Amino acid sequence: MTPLFSAAQVQSVGVAGDGEFTRITITSQNQFRPNVFLRDTEDGLVIEMVPETFQLAAAPFFAEPTGGVFAYTLDTDRIVFELEQPMMIMREIDLPPAGTEQLYRYILDLSGVSLARFQSAARRDGTRYARFEADRYAAAEAASLAPQTAPVTLAETPPSAGQPETPSAKPAGFGALMKMAAQQRRVIVIDPGHGGKDPGAIAVTGDEEADIVLSASLKLKSLIEQDARYVVKLTRETDVYVEHEDRVSMARDWGADLFISVHADAAGKPTVRGASVYTISTRGEARIDRTAKRFGWDMPFEDGTPEEVSDILQDLTVRETKSNSEIFAEFLVPELKQAGPLLRNTHRRQNFFVLLAPDVPAVLVEIGFLTNRDDARRLKSERGRRKSAEAIKRAIDAYFDRQDLLFASN
Ligand SMILES: [Zn+2]
Repeated sequence: MTPLFSAAQVQSVGVAGDGEFTRITITSQNQFRPNVFLRDTEDGLVIEMVPETFQLAAAPFFAEPTGGVFAYTLDTDRIVFELEQPMMIMREIDLPPAGTEQLYRYILDLSGVSLARFQSAARRDGTRYARFEADRYAAAEAASLAPQTAPVTLAETPPSAGQPETPSAKPAGFGALMKMAAQQRRVIVIDPGHGGKDPGAIAVTGDEEADIVLSASLKLKSLIEQDARYVVKLTRETDVYVEHEDRVSMARDWGADLFISVHADAAGKPTVRGASVYTISTRGEARIDRTAKRFGWDMPFEDGTPEEVSDILQDLTVRETKSNSEIFAEFLVPELKQAGPLLRNTHRRQNFFVLLAPDVPAVLVEIGFLTNRDDARRLKSERGRRKSAEAIKRAIDAYFDRQDLLFASN
């Protein structure tokens, strides 16, 4: 019997950066796709990478750590990076051999964040970590009970498991394990507008905007979640009121890669119809600094960074975020056109509060006019909802594919 996966044969581990932005690069002979966990341990903040299988090459090469990582340890079944400062994963890239590059490259880009933000991410990862370790243990145990299991050179189980490592061809919990591996993906935050005491606009059908956009958001969530590349979070899942600043804070705490606020429009004229997309206006952009300070949306700068430097970095981040929001909106417009009519000047700019995060690309989508009979019917129908959700999903794919391409060519 052959192993499920041959060991990745890690060739090198490299860490480079300036402490603010840090890149970890791992080269291997086979695809290396670890589960990655941020952990706040007794020994400090760490990033733990646990591959499905793990084996060092005969003569591995290890670069001197630099940037925000001061040490890393190679265990029998994982690599542990000790962080100098709180950092979070900005992106994860997995490249097959190409051209003269004969090895697989697995890249993690890290960016400095506040301790509070790291800890909130580590808490989240803690649950996943516990489940992951439990599943690994269950898989190893199931394998040891299975008849006719030939020993394979797979990773040791964690010390706490106290079980020998011999996964069978179909270890229990393996599916769950793969699923969790997929959870390292982009975080999409969907924000259904209004709710609770704030019903939003009222449709000609008598429905409230708050309900219509919640249904649309739930539909969108279930569609995106079928794709293992994404994690989806909702700022509300029921008919409750959520403050605007809390919607933005949630997105930041969840480490959102993209924020999509979902609304439906209303107009005095019943003939006005169609979807539109909003990104932050110049006026809105001008109040980002002030608003971020007020609500503690701290930018990820190290303590002791001179103010003039952090001002410049902050300015760059805000501009990059705005540019990414615009790019996403531009991907979204033609897709929405496939789903239904568009409002003229479809991409608009407004000073909306939920678009004020300094570091999360954000758009507000008006999925149609509730004051228009055709739009209202479309937004209420299963088919109309599905078409809108599919359009937004296609734009999300296009947006992140573009980002991957940009980074891969760096
Ligand atoms: Zn609204």
